[in-house]
Amino acid sequence: MAQIRIDKYLADMGIGTRSEVKKILKSGQVTLNGEKIKKPEQKINSETDEVLVNQKPVVYQEFEYYMLNKAGGVVSATKDKKEKTVLDCIDSKKRKDLFPVGRLDKDTEGLLLITNDGELAHRLLSPKKHVDKTYFVKLREPLKQEYEAALENGIDIGEEALTLPAKLEICSEDRKNCLLTIHEGKFHQVKRMFQSAENEVVFLKRMSMGSLTLDKALETGQYRPLTQEEIERLK
Ligand code: URA
Repeated sequence: MAQIRIDKYLADMGIGTRSEVKKILKSGQVTLNGEKIKKPEQKINSETDEVLVNQKPVVYQEFEYYMLNKAGGVVSATKDKKEKTVLDCIDSKKRKDLFPVGRLDKDTEGLLLITNDGELAHRLLSPKKHVDKTYFVKLREPLKQEYEAALENGIDIGEEALTLPAKLEICSEDRKNCLLTIHEGKFHQVKRMFQSAENEVVFLKRMSMGSLTLDKALETGQYRPLTQEEIERLK
């Protein structure tokens, strides 16, 4: 997107609302390639032009990508009247069109990608693409051996079809902790799968989604921008 109105450029980059930006322009605080510009409708090239607001460069970013280690108690929505949303967790965001790629339940923790790249989100969420998602699961009861094969091969969660093949790794001697990798994303899928195995998920955390793995350095509730390499790998 090279040609863009200056007021949109500045508003997209979080300088202010469209009307605040108009005032900033009018008062002569903005330069384009060294020349003062005042008209909000002025078109500029977002890739090659140099824009300064009060002598400080404002570089245009069409897309933003963040990895959030979602905490429990936060909802996977863009707006909510009462609850804290995953977007409220991203303090440094510039763009106003960010959204979470998919949903985690309010009590689920872990990896959530936040972006405004609709095409990427569509590819990651498309049921046809079967992007794997790995979850760390804590169970109320030891996992009964008799359900292991069904969890991996397909289990009845009350839908028309059984779940698609999944990968299960039991990671504690008491058989209460495991990693489950699924290739689909039905509503409450992981919880329902273990419910069908006469058990209950007491803690759920997403560890990875496609090529993206939760950064161990991120504490619960923290986030960071994706690296260029992570973005390329997702595409
Ligand atoms: N499966 C669930 O049951 N909940 C989630 O949040 C994600 C996957």
